[in-house]
Amino acid sequence: MAGALPSPDPKRLLAWYDVHKRALPWRVRRDPYRIWLSEVMAQQTTLAAVIPYYQAFLARWPSLADLAAADAEEVLAAWSGLGYYRRARHLHACARIVAQDLGGRFPESVEGLRALPGLGAYSAAAIAAIAFERPTVPVDGNVLRVVARLFAVTKPLAQAKADLAERAQTLRPRRRFGDFAQALMELGALVCTPRAPDCPRCPWAKACRARAQGIADSLPQKSAKKAKPMLQAVAFLLRRADGAVLLRRRPDTGLLAGMLELPSTPWREKPWNLDDALEHAPPGRDWQESAPPFRHVFSHVSVTLRVVAGRPAGRLAGLWAKPGQWGGLALPSLTAKALARSGQS
Ligand code: SF4
Repeated sequence: MAGALPSPDPKRLLAWYDVHKRALPWRVRRDPYRIWLSEVMAQQTTLAAVIPYYQAFLARWPSLADLAAADAEEVLAAWSGLGYYRRARHLHACARIVAQDLGGRFPESVEGLRALPGLGAYSAAAIAAIAFERPTVPVDGNVLRVVARLFAVTKPLAQAKADLAERAQTLRPRRRFGDFAQALMELGALVCTPRAPDCPRCPWAKACRARAQGIADSLPQKSAKKAKPMLQAVAFLLRRADGAVLLRRRPDTGLLAGMLELPSTPWREKPWNLDDALEHAPPGRDWQESAPPFRHVFSHVSVTLRVVAGRPAGRLAGLWAKPGQWGGLALPSLTAKALARSGQS
């Protein structure tokens, strides 16, 4: 009977964590700079994708002061491929504020951390708990799932979030807040996984309402997903005789803000015919398709890109770069893919 179940004991989870935690690079040393860096990088990205970037950033900018002193363009280039480029801009802005205005020390409270660029409720709570032992439970998707199952909350996730976040706070131990935050996330990542929770291995199995009711793998209930707009664009690959390609910088706000890209048509839902598209092209000639169209998916939108290649009509001013230079530029994955598919890598 669900009513007779014990409460989830935080000590059991901590004991499990002590044995089963993964050796992640930011767990080696409890340093606010490293913890902050890992938290910002891990937002909406898998750990497997984050680890090489985290290590490369630390090798290049071993301290907050180093990162704050870096050029914004260098930081964007190093972030290239990790996606969500606004996070890289916020990361750099945050490093500068902490290094220059806060004497090199991160605020220790959730509220103080939330006031910094790029830190939302979850990241601020995670840093406060893990770096500064503040008594708070950061709530991400993993934690929402574990809590929905522990308490058998059957309401759709979108409506249950506030309730689940409150219940998460009730699970907190009296000490080891940083370890507990990580233990809860680790449980969600390793045992209480989205599709197939491994309940027999779970330290909280006896306390879990969803397990007792046999509904663990149906929770949390998802709300219907909104379809992503599917946009179309044509990109123009203008190649000089010396192999250099014309790039342009995107506006400072919006998707891929400030990143470099091939000049292109606006992105729209209606497919482009080539004649209309070429009205948006830089001055060029001999245009022809250089690769089959491909689809690239962002968080809220997907774009199908056709790439047409041509030769410049006359001497054109602008940012020209050769394949060997692209490693040092802030090229988002979409542009890198367009270039690679057109044989420019
Ligand atoms: Fe998740 Fe199963 Fe543990 Fe419940 S018993 S918290 S469903 S892994």
